[in-house]
Amino acid sequence: MNTIDWNYIKDFTQELMDIPTPGGYTQMGILRCIQEFERFGVKYITTKKGAVIGEIEGRSSEGATLISAHIDTLGAMVKSIKSNGRPVLTNIGGFSWNCVEGENLVIHTQDGRRYTGSLLPSKASRHTYGEEVTNLLRSQENMEVRIDEFTSTKEETTALGIAVGDFVTFHTRTIFTENGFIKSRYIDDKVCVAQLFAYIKYLRDNNLKPERKVYFYISNYEEIGHGISYIPPEVEDFIALDVGLVAEDAAGDERRVNIVAKDSRTPYDFNLRSKLVNICLEKGINYTLDVHNRYGSDASIAATQGFDVNFSCIGPSVDASHHYERTHRDGVVETIKLLIEVL
Ligand SMILES: [Zn+2]
Repeated sequence: MNTIDWNYIKDFTQELMDIPTPGGYTQMGILRCIQEFERFGVKYITTKKGAVIGEIEGRSSEGATLISAHIDTLGAMVKSIKSNGRPVLTNIGGFSWNCVEGENLVIHTQDGRRYTGSLLPSKASRHTYGEEVTNLLRSQENMEVRIDEFTSTKEETTALGIAVGDFVTFHTRTIFTENGFIKSRYIDDKVCVAQLFAYIKYLRDNNLKPERKVYFYISNYEEIGHGISYIPPEVEDFIALDVGLVAEDAAGDERRVNIVAKDSRTPYDFNLRSKLVNICLEKGINYTLDVHNRYGSDASIAATQGFDVNFSCIGPSVDASHHYERTHRDGVVETIKLLIEVL
């Protein structure tokens, strides 16, 4: 029996982190996932909104389960260009500008050119502005992009081909430590995409079939709140793979799989939640059960949109979600163990 392939998860996570996929600009990430479905001989369809759904037959032909993970991440877009030549950004997805202060970034122009730069407060130099650097509110209007080109006017920046509407992606600073931590932006949800494929690899390596048919939905608008647009009619259970939370007021643990009981949209389906909890208890899978303050998953959003499915959300927990995140190998492995048992 082959075990869960941690090296595969690590390598594929790193590869996905290197592909920019802010919400609305996910084509390259989706293409990479299509290649991975093809590599494992998984048939798939694409949706009109650009997502991809893989499909693996089960031992029984009754019913089906849908598993999702979102390839889209947070990011930004050029909102305007200031008279000093520096673009102001609007955010894609929910994050505070403090979380990306000083971060290196790439501007993707309409015609495919890429420019590097850094996001800085408009008053950044301590030697020039003194205490104002500390006190300046990190708001959209107070942040600007220092482009790595010689430009100091709006005209010069425009002449580079940079314009309103260009997507902007931040460096992820992905680091795997020797003792199993993953530190990166966008662990939410790229680690979950990698673990979805690691589950498929586990099936293929061991020549196994899930109990019933499984659909694998790689969604591309989750961070903006409209990830799921189609659920095949035979799907009964929908399990979103998304991050749990490690914080003072949260129950998540980087070394366990988290099961969501309720988020800010809705309580989750009680029967499906109970099934997941009972599997963890029976099989000795380390888990947490949590209630999230400000959170929606592809599953809870699909349910509140009116899709008729049982819905649940599981995943490894991350510290400092939507900031510079961290999780641990153990939480990822426990999540895949739960998938192996429930599917
Ligand atoms: Zn997420």
